[in-house]
Amino acid sequence: MNVPIYLDHNATTPLDSRVLERMMPWMTEGFWNASSSHAGGRLAAKAVEDARRQVAALLGARASEIVITSGATEANNLALKGVLQLAGIQRNRLVTFATEHKAVLDTAEWLATTGTEVTVLPVNTDGTIDLCHLEEQLAPGNVGLVSVMAANNETGVLADLTAISDLAHHYGALVHTDATQRIGKLSFRVPEARVDLASMSAHKMYGPKGVGALFVSRRVELLPMMHGGGHERGMRSGTLNVPAIVGMGEAAAICMESVEVEADRQCALRTQLTKAITSRIPNAWETTATGNRLPNTANLRFEGADAEAVMANAPDVAISSGSACTSLVPTPSHVLMAMGFDPSAASECLRFSLGRTTTALEIDAAVTSIERSVRRVRELDGGTR
Ligand code: PMP
Repeated sequence: MNVPIYLDHNATTPLDSRVLERMMPWMTEGFWNASSSHAGGRLAAKAVEDARRQVAALLGARASEIVITSGATEANNLALKGVLQLAGIQRNRLVTFATEHKAVLDTAEWLATTGTEVTVLPVNTDGTIDLCHLEEQLAPGNVGLVSVMAANNETGVLADLTAISDLAHHYGALVHTDATQRIGKLSFRVPEARVDLASMSAHKMYGPKGVGALFVSRRVELLPMMHGGGHERGMRSGTLNVPAIVGMGEAAAICMESVEVEADRQCALRTQLTKAITSRIPNAWETTATGNRLPNTANLRFEGADAEAVMANAPDVAISSGSACTSLVPTPSHVLMAMGFDPSAASECLRFSLGRTTTALEIDAAVTSIERSVRRVRELDGGTR
C-alpha cells in the first residue's frame, strides 16, 4: 500500500502500539463481561475501573464522574438531551454556537422539535465567541444549558471556557463542552475550565474508535438515553466494551505524559508548513491565524483553486476540506461560513492537522505536492473561479 503523508489527525489518529498491546489480552483470553460476578468478570471490571481512573486523571475529574460512551457523538447527545429533557419548563432553553460540530448542532435541531427552545449564536469573524452577546441570551434566566466546543475541529480556534462557564453559572445555566479536539492536543482540566459536562473520543487521541466518555460533574443530573441493565450508574446501559475502554485509559495516560512536549513540537512543524505554503504559493493564506488555537491545526485558503480538486491532484497527501464526519456531503464548511466566508471562498479552504508521527521531512514533501497541485488546478480552471 502506498501510504500518503497523513496530515488529517483531526479526523482520526493512528492507534498507538502501546495502546494496542494493552487492549489485546482483553480481546482474547480476557473476554469476560465486566458485569459478571465470577473471577473473570471481576478482573474485567477492575480493568474498566483502572481505565476510568486514567481518563479522570487526564481531565482532573473524579473517576465517578466519567460515563463511558461509544464516542463523542453519543456523549454530545447524552449531554444535551440528558440535561434539557430533565430541565423542566423554567430552564428549557439551549444556547449553542454556529461553529459547533454537527453532533451538537443536529442534536440541538432535534431538541427543538421536542419543545426545547434553541438559540444558535453567531461567532466573531475570527471564530471566537462574543461574551456580551452570550450574556444578553443568559440574562432572562431561562437557559438550562450552554454548549460550546473547547476547540474547533476545522480551524482549531479555542474557546475561553473559564469565562464562558463563569458567565453561564452566574445566570444559573449549566455548561457542556465538546472537548473532543482539545483533549490529547492541549491540557484540558475540568476544575480550570469549570464546565459541568465534557465530551471526548478515544480515536482523536491515539486510542481505538467507537469509545469515548462524557464527564458529568457530580452536581449534574441527567436523563439517560439508553435504557437497560443500568450500567454506568444508570446513565448508559449496555455491556461495556472492555478492550476499547482499556485502550482509552492507556491513550489517556500516554497523553498525560506527552501532551505538552508534543504541542510545542507540532506547533513548530505547523509554522514550518504555513510559512512554506504562504511564501511559495501565491494567494494562499491562513483563514485562522490567531495564536489562540490548537497547535496542530492550520486552515488555509488557496484562492482560485477548488479544495476538492487540490486534494484530488495531491493524492500523496491526506488532508481535509472540512469535517470528516460531513465530508460525504460535499457542501462548503458551515464553520467557515459562520466566520463570514461566502460558499465559494469556503470551498477553497483546506485543513491540515498534524500529529505525533508527523516529521519535518513530511511537511516538506507535503508542501511540494500541494504547491504542484494548486498550480495545476489553477491552470486547468483557467482563472474561471
Ligand atoms: N465533536 C468533534 C469536535 C469532533 O471533531 C468529532 C469527530 N469528528 C466528534 C464530535 C464526533 O466524535 P466521534 O467520532 O467519537 O463520534
